[in-house]
Amino acid sequence: MAGNVHRATAAGQGNDQTRRHNLSTVLTALHHDGPQTRAELTRRTGLNRSTIAALVAELSLRGLAFETPATEAGTVGRPSPLVHPNSDVVALTVNPDIDAITVGLVGLGGRVHKRIRYETELPTVKKTVKIVTALVEGMQSELDSRFTVLGLGVAVPGLVRSDAMVTLAPHLEWREEPLAGPLTEALGYPVTAGNDAGAACLAESIYGAGRGVRELIYLNGSASGIGGGVLVRGIPLRGSSGYAGELGHTVVNAQGSRCHCGRIGCLETEVSRARLLEVLGRGSSEADHLDRLLAESDDDAVQIEVNRQLDWLALALGNLIGIFNPEAIVLGGFLGSLYAANPERLDEGVQEQTFASLVHGLRIERAELGPQLLTVGAAELVFAGLLADPAGYLARLDLPGEGVRPAL
Ligand SMILES: [Zn+2]
Repeated sequence: MAGNVHRATAAGQGNDQTRRHNLSTVLTALHHDGPQTRAELTRRTGLNRSTIAALVAELSLRGLAFETPATEAGTVGRPSPLVHPNSDVVALTVNPDIDAITVGLVGLGGRVHKRIRYETELPTVKKTVKIVTALVEGMQSELDSRFTVLGLGVAVPGLVRSDAMVTLAPHLEWREEPLAGPLTEALGYPVTAGNDAGAACLAESIYGAGRGVRELIYLNGSASGIGGGVLVRGIPLRGSSGYAGELGHTVVNAQGSRCHCGRIGCLETEVSRARLLEVLGRGSSEADHLDRLLAESDDDAVQIEVNRQLDWLALALGNLIGIFNPEAIVLGGFLGSLYAANPERLDEGVQEQTFASLVHGLRIERAELGPQLLTVGAAELVFAGLLADPAGYLARLDLPGEGVRPAL
């Protein structure tokens, strides 16, 4: 990180740009890694102590961070105050899916204040806006009295264009649905939207199994199928329109069955949660217990199906490894359960499908964030703008009253 820091060189505009860049660096460090002393911020950014003191003072003044007195125990020399991200600066989040709409409230530092799952079947956009509005109105007095809301982040299982237009969410049966307009009109907050697996990839890369990994492939398995996200040099790969990462539609079996996308033998037709539950003789309501159900089963048919799915997954991963040469692959949702059922099978399968030099040092891991993953991911869609330029973002944001409420 130190190598990216612009040191103060010239007066005027150059100085202002440097200050804004450094504000971004310090706020990002607090958001990703939590409270730390000024001394730690000085070390990790390579900036000097007085610069860090000035930047922390500015972040505090803007209500984005606050300090608590240092604890003396175990420190050498003058104790350094502890700087915290202000978790009362929040993003509202929405995850529409085929069986529920989940609304969340997430603070800076990735703290999930609230997560409400509202069960409903195949919600339309209109119904989604209605449900989200009702849930947010239920929190309104708390939002007004305690929190500063930066905006609304929506993670959708489908193709989402950079301007929050849902081009296609096949399982929700949404087509060419502009999301930002109706949600902003109903709630008054700016809306950022993205693909759900892409958002989950971001969350895992900041707080989960992909932490610190700059070249990452994330695959998410859900009721709707398989989605993905890719980080290249630490930056989410978006593609020309924001659609990159449809890894579930990697074709693996030319003799397979037809996918809803129209092609034959996509990864998500061979590797599926529904097929696992079917062989286990269970319904989708028991999907949360997939780990236990797979571990407890001594049925040969279950083992055969697990291995069959792992082999197709290994083939797809072999292709992806050849394209992206990742440091790590993180598997979320039911794919984590599938991997846990027989990790050696997948590890060996991937080795067989790939050049040895490409798998050298490669890690395959399960996602760590659990049920909060998509809520944290959707919030990151909102926080990304603030972190890139905290001062500029707050200046553009039309906040009521006095703007961001300073932390206590
Ligand atoms: Zn497909």
